[in-house]
Amino acid sequence: MGGKGFESSIEIFLRMRPINSGAIAPYEVDVDAGTVVWTIPRQASLGMMNHQREHYNFSFTGIFQMESKQDEVFHKVAHKVVVGALDGYNGTIFAYGQTGSGKTYTITGGAERYVDRGIIPRAISLVFSEVAERSEYTYTIHFSYLEVYNEMGYDLLNPDHETKALEDLPKVTLLEDEDSVFHLRNLSQHLATNEEEALNLLFIGDTNRIISSTPMNMASSRSHCIFTAHIVARKAGEDTIRRSKLNLVDLAGSERVWKSGVDGQILREAKYINLSLHFLEQVIVALQERSHGLPRNHIPYRNSMMTSVLRDSLGGNCRTVMIATVTIAQDQLEETISTCRFAQRVA
Ligand code: ADP
Ligand code: MG
Repeated sequence: MGGKGFESSIEIFLRMRPINSGAIAPYEVDVDAGTVVWTIPRQASLGMMNHQREHYNFSFTGIFQMESKQDEVFHKVAHKVVVGALDGYNGTIFAYGQTGSGKTYTITGGAERYVDRGIIPRAISLVFSEVAERSEYTYTIHFSYLEVYNEMGYDLLNPDHETKALEDLPKVTLLEDEDSVFHLRNLSQHLATNEEEALNLLFIGDTNRIISSTPMNMASSRSHCIFTAHIVARKAGEDTIRRSKLNLVDLAGSERVWKSGVDGQILREAKYINLSLHFLEQVIVALQERSHGLPRNHIPYRNSMMTSVLRDSLGGNCRTVMIATVTIAQDQLEETISTCRFAQRVA
């Protein structure tokens, strides 16, 4: 992989989801009535021409073509972030893109086939195999799974999910202490001592995400989900402990729904999503400017729940990766351009 992004503290990858039509040449991935999309793999860049014959060009840290498999994505994107988290560096991986572009497939993966496992199950597996090898350390790892819908936090691992409606569960809220450290109230953390236990937590959370989406008519693509491993490492013979976090984030769909005459609730959701993605962008841009030496004392974390939650896991010593997921289907080209624009602004 080549291209832009090496000097940047945040890596941005593009992933194209397969389209279901016949064979496509690798350099000219979709040519049809009026739109053209092409990639230049060595420069990790994507070119597009829309119906109005306007040209666009975007470059990334790396591009995953339609035929890229889950294990390739994991090794190029997530492996070093996971190992970094075990070494004491907070890490965050986001998937950003319109609904249907492959965010959940990338972060969680398909449940049916083993090869379709996404970043979370593979990260869990790597965490516990690394822990087993690092005999000089004792690791204690808790997991939490937070859903943010309309700026409201829900604990996907709250055991009361089985018996109570979503509306009746306590909301997850942010508390800021006198040292400006944020704490999350009502977000449970669950100890897992092996891969199987951690996978079970993921399964429970994903099931709750799906079940709870019905009563409030809350499609899961309208919420952000943050799966977090809270890692504590103690070195044999030493008193000090090292804490770090690994956040794996499936963002709400970035599509512009209000274009198409929508009703109250959808419009409300769209406004929340648009705002929170905008605040995320502001934070990342501010962090990037700071890392490039521009004076930025104020990073606007407080504007949204997600940026507050991720406050200590973005920028600085943290490893941050965003995977922008797109489809190159011609009727989705404007959304694809919009996703690439977002990715370029935060790069
Ligand atoms: P999103 O979470 O962005 O709304 P999904 O991850 O649910 O999108 O993907 C939509 C559909 O496309 C799902 O059926 C998913 O399994 C499939 N899909 C997405 N990306 C890929 C991919 N890279 N390879 C194979 N199938 C994919
Ligand atoms: Mg999804």
